[in-house]
Amino acid sequence: MSKTIAINAGSSSLKWQLYQMPEEIVIAKGIVERIGLADSIFTIKYGVGQKFEEIQDIPSHELAVQKLLEELINLKIIASFDEITGVGHRVVAGGESFKNSVLITDEVLEKIEDLAELAPLHNPANAAGIRAFKKILPEITSVAVFDTAFHATIPPVNYLYGLPKAYYQDFKIRKYGAHGTSHYYVSREAAEVLGKPLDETKLITAHIGNGGSITAIRHGRSIDTSMGFTPLAGVLMGTRSGDIDASILPFLMEKLGLTDINDAIDILNRKSGLLGLSGISSDMRDIIEARKAGNPDAELAFDVFINRIQKYIGQYFAVLNGADAIVFTAGIGENSTWVRSAIIKGLSWFGVAIDESKNVVGAQGDISAANSKVKVLVIPTDEELVIARDVEKIKNRS
Ligand code: ADP
Repeated sequence: MSKTIAINAGSSSLKWQLYQMPEEIVIAKGIVERIGLADSIFTIKYGVGQKFEEIQDIPSHELAVQKLLEELINLKIIASFDEITGVGHRVVAGGESFKNSVLITDEVLEKIEDLAELAPLHNPANAAGIRAFKKILPEITSVAVFDTAFHATIPPVNYLYGLPKAYYQDFKIRKYGAHGTSHYYVSREAAEVLGKPLDETKLITAHIGNGGSITAIRHGRSIDTSMGFTPLAGVLMGTRSGDIDASILPFLMEKLGLTDINDAIDILNRKSGLLGLSGISSDMRDIIEARKAGNPDAELAFDVFINRIQKYIGQYFAVLNGADAIVFTAGIGENSTWVRSAIIKGLSWFGVAIDESKNVVGAQGDISAANSKVKVLVIPTDEELVIARDVEKIKNRS
């Protein structure tokens, strides 16, 4: 029996999902939170609604992986480690080096570590997860799946910044985007829902979660996306500002007496967005609750959030010269009827409209009004499945 594990390692967390392949059945999934802090939280969900949870100090990613593998045996989810034949790791930044998923060699791992300058919070954590698995299960097929890979098809006219060209040539400063695995997955599912060959579709995919990005996809290929050199750019997010005028940085540093630019960037990454504008929370559910209760800051934060997404969708109608569908996915896109409704209401000039009787909690698939020129789809994303499939593909090749 062949099992593949998909790993998403963050700086203090490790999310995972274990699949029976090629059947694509999820056997178990879990998360280790607060790695490196006191009272780490270790959770596994398996079987029919069974759950295992333990709180104990887990000081490193390696120990998190070790514990996870031990508990898979203890809970009889697997009988021996031999059953796991592949592991796929989500890696945030692949730069220009990785345009597809790859088998992880020592050279690949080094390159992922070198690319940390493009994703200082993420790539070192991803690499720690890779090292942990390599140490404990050195023989299994180990694959890296990059968040940026799907955006490798973006043309220079969309990935270049208006900076001296030497900075692109010498330092590779350009748009890389993120959430590629999600945009890739939902675009394929969307073509199915539309009943149209993928290479005839034009789609605007909106991955709206705690982080958010909008992508323009022509004939199955990403041609523009809202995130940039790093995931800080684009739409307003839970704690990230999204696009701002770069001149704000030195101005803000002077006003706040900051001497380290990383402190200013930290404000843009962690204290801005919904959290910064509302002063309440980075979580959309809290913003919606506060808004319903009449809190004006929550109302403004919500409105700015919607406005930025509408503007990107408007841009991408131009980039694609029209679209077959707008696709909503991720935590907010999949679950918030309010957010979907507010975004689409402002786009009526494009001939797009939602059927509110279909825009309900739990909606999936086509929620557009009968006369809508552009379809509106809700498609739950599944990045882990893409990772598991890529492991399978590469395993069968090698
Ligand atoms: P991440 O980027 O961390 O993977 P998710 O895709 O899980 O984020 O999305 C998290 C966001 O989804 C949070 O802002 C949360 O409030 C929001 N969310 C989840 N369910 C709902 C809901 N029913 N209504 C509105 N927002 C929701």
